[in-house]
Order: sequence, then structure tokens, then C-alpha cells
Amino acid sequence: SHVPTALTRAEGVPVRGLPRVVGADVPVPIRGGGHVPYANLDHAASAPCLEAVHEAVTRALPYYSSVHRGTGRLSRVTTDAYEAARETVRAFVGAWRRSAVVFTRNTTDSMNLLAHAAPTGTSVVVFETEHHASLLPWKRAVRLPAPATPAEAVSAADRALRESPIGPRLLVVTAASNVTGELWPIGELAHVARRNGARIAVDAAQLVPHRPLDMTALDLDYVAFSGHKLYAPFGAGVLAGRADWLRAADPYLKGGGASASVGRTTRWAAAPEPRHEAGTPNVLGVIALAAACETLSERWDAMIAHEEALVTRLRSGLATLAPVHELSLWGEGAPRVGIVSFTVDGWNARDVALTLSEEYGIGVRDGRFCAHPFVRHLLGGDDAVQDTAVRAGLGLGTSEEHVDRLLTALAELTCTVT
Ligand code: PLP
Repeated sequence: SHVPTALTRAEGVPVRGLPRVVGADVPVPIRGGGHVPYANLDHAASAPCLEAVHEAVTRALPYYSSVHRGTGRLSRVTTDAYEAARETVRAFVGAWRRSAVVFTRNTTDSMNLLAHAAPTGTSVVVFETEHHASLLPWKRAVRLPAPATPAEAVSAADRALRESPIGPRLLVVTAASNVTGELWPIGELAHVARRNGARIAVDAAQLVPHRPLDMTALDLDYVAFSGHKLYAPFGAGVLAGRADWLRAADPYLKGGGASASVGRTTRWAAAPEPRHEAGTPNVLGVIALAAACETLSERWDAMIAHEEALVTRLRSGLATLAPVHELSLWGEGAPRVGIVSFTVDGWNARDVALTLSEEYGIGVRDGRFCAHPFVRHLLGGDDAVQDTAVRAGLGLGTSEEHVDRLLTALAELTCTVT
């Protein structure tokens, strides 16, 4: 390898404890004067950058050069670092040795690449609980209504796949909901897909920042995720999975890198990675993404313990507030990642979010979370009074104080309407 030791992580760096993020507690102004440390409860939209990611990018910068194009020393160093990142990502998701790992811009891009590569006539089955990134890219898809329970999801998928026309079949499903945080039974759904001669593509955007994933053990065909939700910067994502469709499809983008030789006719690169990564890639984004994968995979125990303690604190706090303050909390009982959504009776979600921001220095998300059908369903369908909710996304940049501040703020703010 050309990768100098300076570009790999320094020896002796402790790997226990909670990974730290850059910019935790950055001061933000609040109405009435003064500043408070920002309470970042919006990890589910984009997570703050890990210190380890920041360090990896800083180490890479002096070697920054073109990949797969130059013969100079730095180009070879950068190319090796880029390809080493691919292997790190492969290990991170437990992808089979011969599966493709294609770098994209984000989960949306990955799902669109898969939709592009799926053979013509592929029958796609998707739940209405999906984020739009996984709901919309398909030319033809059977949409299944939001299931009430995991068991219902499994039986509905089984039925829909069994009734799909002969030909390629693809089940698309999220691993963890960006609306309720619920973990989906992807192992059982993979089993159902296999039994019906279908493939399964998993939207892991909200799973991989919170839990380890093993594609091989779960028998998943494809996974997609984004670097910016995984404590790395924006602009790099992954589609990992079976190589055959990707190898057979026309390049997703046509241009340099995707072409093996160009004369009167063009011969495209055979391997899925160059074929679908035309143009100069996001080298630093990919190195950053791989650094995040490496760091998280060494610290799952501490991270899961941290997050579970925070989710329990928040959910039980909200449950205590709920009867008095007309707060509705979504997703009871199921195993979940650190995502908690709720509505406040008589309050527009935007006003709640703005008040939390302006008066308490708390960042949450409000809206329909790019999952309009699911949010509409949770709010009671087309006749619902409200059509938006508030979402708290917890993670490594969240502390107990942030959770307590949110609970105090909600108690105070809802008191003003009663
Ligand atoms: N899938 C899920 C479950 C998400 O939460 C998101 C992010 O909002 C996406 C897909 C889309 O991710 P990106 O905007 O990075 O493409």
C-alpha cells in the first residue's frame, strides 16, 4: 500500500468510551439576551462531525490529490486511501467480499442508483412508512400501507411478493424509521424476500449511526446510507450489495472513469465501482466516512448504552408530561434508536420548534420528515387537524442536560396554553 502511516490513525489512541463530536455545546443566542450551549437534538437530520473524523481529514489534507488518474506519489497515496476506505465500509456493513461498494452522494443517490440498475420490469414492493428517498425512486412499485406490528409487516411483504409477477422482485425497507425510530425486522423480511425469489434493499440511513449492521449475517442484498448522518460531513454515501445488476446496468453517470475505452463506440468499465462513479469523486468525504465507520465500530457498547439511557429519560419524561400537556408520543413499545417524535395539542409543530430554538437554544426538527404518507397515517389520515410533528434525534452530541432542557421547555411552553 502507498498509504503512509501518517494517513492512518495514530497508534495508541484510546478506543474505549464515547466518541467525541466537534462543536458540542457551541454557544447560541436566545431571546431576551445571552447565550446558552446548543442542545443538538437533531442528529437524525445530520449528525455533528466526530473529532476522529476531523482528525482523519486533517491527516489526509497534505496528501490531497486526484484518485485513479495521477501517477505521482500523492495521487497514489490518495487512491490507496480512497480504496482502503471502500474496504473499511465493506467491513462496517459486513458486506460479502465480492459485493460492490459504490460511493454515492447520499442515501437518496444510492436508492436512485439501485432503481437505475434494477432490470427493466423489476417488481418493487415498498411500505408507505419509508422515507421519500426509498419510496419514490422506483418506476413501478406496489405500496403497502403502514403495518401495525412487525409481524404484520412480514406477512404483508410475504403476500405482496408472492403475488408479484414472474421476473425480478425487490423488497425495499428501512432498517430504522426516521419518524418513530422503530427498528424493523429486516432479518425476517430478508427471509421472506428469499423465500419469494426476491432481493431486499435496506435503507440503513437511520440504523448505522446507532447500531452495527451485518449484511452477510442478515442475508441482505443491498444497503444504502449517508455519511452526514454517521458523524461525517455531507456529500458522501454508500450503496453496497450484489454486483450483478450494477455490472449489467448502463453507467449511472456517463463520463471519465466509467469508460474503459472510447472510440467510435464506448466500452464501459466492467466493475460496478468505476462504472457508477464517473467523474472525480468526493475523496475527502469518503475518507471522512470511513473514519466514522472505523470509530463507531470500536465503540458500539458505549454508544448504545449512552443512547438508550437518553431515550429512556426522554420518553419517560414525555410520558409524564403527556396527560397534562396533551402531548402525543409516537411509537410505543417497539425496540428503537434515538428518535422520538411527538405532537403538542393546540400547537403547530413549527411554533414548538421555533420556541425551543429561540428561547431555549434547542435544535429539533419539525415537519413531515420526508415521509409524508407515514406521518399522515400517524396523525390520523387525511382528516387530521395537524399534519406535522416535532422530532428529537439523539446521539453522541446529546447530553442528559439537553434532554432535561427539552422536557423543562415543553412543560413551560405547554403551560402557557392551558
Ligand atoms: N432514509 C432515511 C430513513 C432517512 O432518514 C434519510 C434522511 O433524511 C434518507 C433516507 C435520505 O438521506 P439523504 O438526505 O442523506 O439522502
